[in-house]
Amino acid sequence: MHGMMMNQPLSIMEILRYASGAHPGAGIVSVRTEGDIHRETYAEAYARGAQLAHGLDALGIGRGDRVATLAWNGYRHFEIYYGVSGMGAVCHTINPRLSAEQMLYIIGHAEDKVLCVDLTFVPLIEALSEHLPRNLKIVVLTDRAHMPDSRLDLLCYEEILAGKPDTYDWPHLDEQTAAALCYTSGTTGHPKGALYTHRSTVMHAMTVAITLNKSLKEGAKILPVVPLFHVNAWGLPYAAPLAGATLVMPGPKLDGASLYDLMEAEGVTSAWGVPTVWMGLRAEIEKRGRPPKGFEQVMVGGSAAPRSMIEGFEKDGIDVCHAWGMTEMSPVGTHGQLSEPMKALPWDEQMRLKSLQGRRLFGVEMKIVDEQGAPLPHDGTAMGELFVRGNTVVSGYFNNPEASDKALDSEGWFGTGDVATINDHGFLSIQDRSKDLIKSGGEWISSIDLENIVMACPKVASCAVIAVAHPKWDERPLLIVVPKGDEKPTLEELHELLLESVAKWQLPDALEFVQELPLTATGKVSKLTLRKQFEGYQLPDAD
Ligand code: ADP
Repeated sequence: MHGMMMNQPLSIMEILRYASGAHPGAGIVSVRTEGDIHRETYAEAYARGAQLAHGLDALGIGRGDRVATLAWNGYRHFEIYYGVSGMGAVCHTINPRLSAEQMLYIIGHAEDKVLCVDLTFVPLIEALSEHLPRNLKIVVLTDRAHMPDSRLDLLCYEEILAGKPDTYDWPHLDEQTAAALCYTSGTTGHPKGALYTHRSTVMHAMTVAITLNKSLKEGAKILPVVPLFHVNAWGLPYAAPLAGATLVMPGPKLDGASLYDLMEAEGVTSAWGVPTVWMGLRAEIEKRGRPPKGFEQVMVGGSAAPRSMIEGFEKDGIDVCHAWGMTEMSPVGTHGQLSEPMKALPWDEQMRLKSLQGRRLFGVEMKIVDEQGAPLPHDGTAMGELFVRGNTVVSGYFNNPEASDKALDSEGWFGTGDVATINDHGFLSIQDRSKDLIKSGGEWISSIDLENIVMACPKVASCAVIAVAHPKWDERPLLIVVPKGDEKPTLEELHELLLESVAKWQLPDALEFVQELPLTATGKVSKLTLRKQFEGYQLPDAD
């Protein structure tokens, strides 16, 4: 047919170009590794992105080449996101908390040409230098005055930009051009790469900005505690400029007191991060007796947010939105903002709903299936493996035919590896990662459920439930607790608390105390490490 609409490819650089004109007051505030606070508008970031693109041209970076980062949240990292994708290259963010072995694997697998590192990570790179590819160029994200003494041949970011034109003839890229690469942290086997396109990234930014509009609005100040080095900080570097919100980048200090001070000083309206970070902030709010001024919403995801934490924020008048997603989904899949009719429900019921993982975003479809792959009803009780489909979901893994072959089912849905229920309002409830479920006598016990309830005990700072082998039941739950004060909770009192919500056969068989829980590179409790730590654990009545 003739006379239809124009076909303009979706482009990441268009977001920043748009923001630099449409949202002149908005930009990026950064706590720098150099120690001070830096401010830049989106227009300035757009100009510096152009200078960077010229600089990378001069270093020989071309279309499709991977430019890696090993950096905290800050404006230079943001400029790399745009400059690199804008010129048609691929921005590959590396998680600095990965093991040296995984990091080297990723750099090799991605065939990175340039690696941009924050000052903090120079010693790490020096330690790894023997094993890095010979032709890898290393750029330090600082100015000449702060360049470290090093035996390595290091380039200086500000020198690369200096004197370059502040406009660039951005190429018109096909919207399916690769733009960014992020590896899953891979608890078993090698990490696998999710390769985002311009199209998927812009679509994700638009749906996130529309759906999470309580946070993403013009004039808002958003604190991404979620790192730019993992799943694009949940899409914030794209969604915030689109919506006209300013990003307040916290740099390396993420403890409760540092976050509180930064939020208060900058008037942060919403903050995004994993539950472990918010435990620290909650403790600080309790200590100071009030939340930071102007703080409206906390976005929490990455692992299940305990109901007690959600209630704590809500009682202080801070809205909590619980989201679920994964690297392979760009990453946001669902959000827990209550629908209009739900807002009329009693407070208790609202809190119950808020502790679920919430509704799908536009463009994300979900199904749960049984072990034969047959779809299960969305009735809130049928539990099955969660599959997803949509414009912002991977169709396979970067340069990994073996993993790609296994990623999708025969109908083209991506298997998340999560086990979930979905209720008749479309609210998702993640029960576990399939490998963390406790299989007791042919029934499943959700570790997330038990942890959530135990977290409500005032004597518990944090906790985890893992499966241990049992001769009769195959597996039984072991509860591991980090106590809050001097008085430790007893298994009996925790059983009493649990029995208000779960059946007797689901109660943990034993209780162990630890000083802290091991965390993964993405700040989640590492069940794998715990399972190894408690391997061969003797349950009291296991004979
Ligand atoms: P990895 O931790 O392997 O790098 P991701 O960061 O992509 O991977 O994590 C995705 C996984 O995190 C999901 O599959 C799910 O198991 C878990 N997850 C994310 N958000 C939530 C949430 N709100 N509640 C429970 N689990 C979550």
